[in-house]
Amino acid sequence: MDSMVFKDEVTENEIQWQTVVAKQDIRTNFHLLKPVNPLSGKRDTTITCDICQNPATLQCISCHSCWCTHEHFLLDDEPIHVHICSKLTELWYMQFERAHQQIGEDTVSKRMEDRIQTQMILDIKRTCEVRSRGYCAERNYIMALAPALRSLQFALKVCGPQSIEFVSCSLMLARIHLGLRKYNYVNQSLSQLSVECDRQIQKELQNIGEGKIYTNKITNVQTVTGLGQNMIKFPFVRIPLEVLERMDTQVISLQGRVQYLYGTFFQSLGERDLSIKFLSESVYYQSLAEGPTGLKTSLSYLEIAKSLLIGQKPKDLSKLNMKDRFKNLNTQVKQSLNILQITVDIWNTAIRRSLNEQKVMSFDYAEVGEPRLLLQDAKAIAAMYLGMDSFLFIKATSTLCLLFTMYDADYEAVIEARVARRAIAEFQKWVGPSDKEWQDAHTWDTDMRDLMSVLETPEVMRRIAQIERENQGRIII
Ligand SMILES: [Zn+2]
Ligand SMILES: [Zn+2]
Repeated sequence: MDSMVFKDEVTENEIQWQTVVAKQDIRTNFHLLKPVNPLSGKRDTTITCDICQNPATLQCISCHSCWCTHEHFLLDDEPIHVHICSKLTELWYMQFERAHQQIGEDTVSKRMEDRIQTQMILDIKRTCEVRSRGYCAERNYIMALAPALRSLQFALKVCGPQSIEFVSCSLMLARIHLGLRKYNYVNQSLSQLSVECDRQIQKELQNIGEGKIYTNKITNVQTVTGLGQNMIKFPFVRIPLEVLERMDTQVISLQGRVQYLYGTFFQSLGERDLSIKFLSESVYYQSLAEGPTGLKTSLSYLEIAKSLLIGQKPKDLSKLNMKDRFKNLNTQVKQSLNILQITVDIWNTAIRRSLNEQKVMSFDYAEVGEPRLLLQDAKAIAAMYLGMDSFLFIKATSTLCLLFTMYDADYEAVIEARVARRAIAEFQKWVGPSDKEWQDAHTWDTDMRDLMSVLETPEVMRRIAQIERENQGRIII
């Protein structure tokens, strides 16, 4: 797999990474390495790096993973290799024994072994995905890279290049490259992903006996200029709703995720209209897959709200009355804030429901974002365009507090509750108790107060005091 890391322009993430490598300030397992024996591979094949496919010089003594340089070893080891090394070792020995088995051995037991191997690979792939998703959610794209690459390789091996698993992993990898601002890579990979996604749709249409829809030229292929002279082709498939309803939601959701990636790609390039166009498509498919108030759908709403703000500078709010601020904004910013409001409401409802049911929400597709970042973005946008004493800011902050509570992140929850209560006090200076929003803010305030009374344990308070000392009274929002 051709990875663009450390080519192109250098991004902030990479500078951080290079500092880490320079200091080797990372838990290293150099004692596990040995030089690659050039004779250990098959004849006429070069042993290649598991990360970049360049000729390998280093090898793990245990699982036989290979790397071209120490740098690529480091890139792989901490995020994923160390977590799967023992399982890979087991797998290596199984395959080694298999290769040296006598011909004519019992085929039933062979088939059995195959099944066990496949299951093991799927397990390892799962670990890779979970770790990659975790790093991606933290926007730590450098660390997300190796686990994503490995899960892609496993998907290719077990499920094949035309499987939905493989397309899913490619999507994740493209998302990570977008985070690393490797636009050329994303550009190329999006074109491929469209083709793959289209193939999945055709396959599914045939499965449900609607294959002829495709031959009726419902597909309308459009071309836009992506980066530089590169043209991006994307098929806009117009499938009748009654057919879409019968299709596998996984396939429809995949289409939504690919469109999402297009949308965020153009957003990064500052292409407002194109990005909104794709994100709207993404909302359409995600809504079909999981409903218009689905959590994944809401992540596309957030991106539309962000794209609407491209080129819209926030105004100086200090001179404006709270009630006049919204009126003073132009239509696009208003639209954006309205969408944001809906998005925060969706998450507020979902998080409260989970808290009531004493469940923790799990979230599957990191390449379409993650609730913590969504709410933090909403909070930041509200602060910039409406002020830190606005109702939207209060709502986003309180919802973020509930999210942290759900994840048992007590310290973070207390911080958000404090910020929310300060904002509520400021907000209530602008409006009177007869106002509906005043009442709502009051309810939020009671919730936050109750939460704080439970969460402000001596340990949490000590931590807050310590961090406040370190920041010398600087307000953290
Ligand atoms: Zn390499
Ligand atoms: Zn190993």
